[in-house]
Amino acid sequence: MPNHLQERDKEVVWHPFTPLLQDLPVLPIRRAKGVYLYTDSGRAILDAVSSWWVNIHGHSNEYIAEAISRQARELEHVIFAGFTHEPAVKLAEGLLNILPSRQAKVFYSDNGSTAVEVALKMAFQYWHNKGGARTKVIALEGAYHGDTFGAMSVGDRNAFVQPFKPFLFEVSSLPFPDGENNEALMARFRKLVDTGEVAAFIFEPLIQGSGGMRMYPAAVLDELLRIAREAGVICIADEVMTGFGRTGRIFASDYLQHQPDIFCLSKGLTGGTMPLGVTTCTEEIQAAFRDPDIMKTFFHGHSFTANPLACAVANASMELLLSDDCQSSIARIAYQQSLFADRLSDHPKVQNARSLGTIMALDIRTEEGTSYFNSKRNRLYTFFLDKDILLRPLGNTLYILPPYVIKEEELDRIYSAIEELLDKL
Ligand SMILES: *Cc1c(COP(=O)(O)O)cnc(C)c1O
Repeated sequence: MPNHLQERDKEVVWHPFTPLLQDLPVLPIRRAKGVYLYTDSGRAILDAVSSWWVNIHGHSNEYIAEAISRQARELEHVIFAGFTHEPAVKLAEGLLNILPSRQAKVFYSDNGSTAVEVALKMAFQYWHNKGGARTKVIALEGAYHGDTFGAMSVGDRNAFVQPFKPFLFEVSSLPFPDGENNEALMARFRKLVDTGEVAAFIFEPLIQGSGGMRMYPAAVLDELLRIAREAGVICIADEVMTGFGRTGRIFASDYLQHQPDIFCLSKGLTGGTMPLGVTTCTEEIQAAFRDPDIMKTFFHGHSFTANPLACAVANASMELLLSDDCQSSIARIAYQQSLFADRLSDHPKVQNARSLGTIMALDIRTEEGTSYFNSKRNRLYTFFLDKDILLRPLGNTLYILPPYVIKEEELDRIYSAIEELLDKL
């Protein structure tokens, strides 16, 4: 039964990624705690997707709330050109401490898409400032890097971007490593970088999120990075989803030997509490901007760059993340997820049950094939929501991407619901 808030919402609000003529109701949430979202009508919904992959320490975390409240009384915001503050410097120091060793400078923005825009602009202007003519970019098929124009350009040219295709810049795409195309993949990559025109190579390390939780081995990416770095191509790791423990290590790049030049971070950065984006780069990249010629400046910035509240929250979130408690939870979840993936591996209705760190995913076998627009999607979503579990399938791909405070029995409850669904199909 629609309540008052739903009706008011429908009058005035436009929701993201939401077909307007489907009558899946938007649920009013009154409050949230830990892994639960509490609706106006008193339901407790288990948030098994970390509210779009952002939440890591549970909702309304006391330690994080305390950090916001303290910071809000001290310094809520200040222009970040010509000024600085403790939370931003501390966060930059903290990030560089845990990022791979070549990372040296931190540039702040507001979200994952802007972190990617900044990375691309840094890479393009790096070559511009050096007087080189490198203007090409390589990206992986199936990639998702955000919804702004640069981010869409390097993302997969799928149905979502059809209306914008004439406005996107050209990108050389690389087939997704499927375990069988290794030779062709490397040959194509080599051929592209050998032109000497490639400015940057951008990728989601080890797993493509929105592309359907598609996983690929670290060894393949390592080889690509080796080839790219040898050819002087700037390697951009989009760790917006994979960062901050998601894949079992702090960063997915921690599984690699060859390290990227630029990192994009957001989502888990603030524990899912405040919007904040970060782009980090090596000393060498920043050096191309340090020049008496003022036109070599990086003329980019957002009104809310390095917002002190967001930075303070990120500092608190990182402290929690690095605690033994959180690290052992991540290991426990990763183990439990891998067991569930194993258990479903020969299920007749399941294809490609897989896990990476705290992420578990499976494709439901359908005649239509795997796709975001698979007609089963809404049925699956509703099936779980009726059981007070929030799972948001990507088409016929189901995945669990929980906050790290989820308990063993809560994961088991999700597994049982999935098995019940599979029995019913
Ligand atoms: C979500 C996501 C983005 C975009 O981040 P927003 O904060 O939603 O703009 C970029 N890259 C990856 C890999 C993501 O998962």
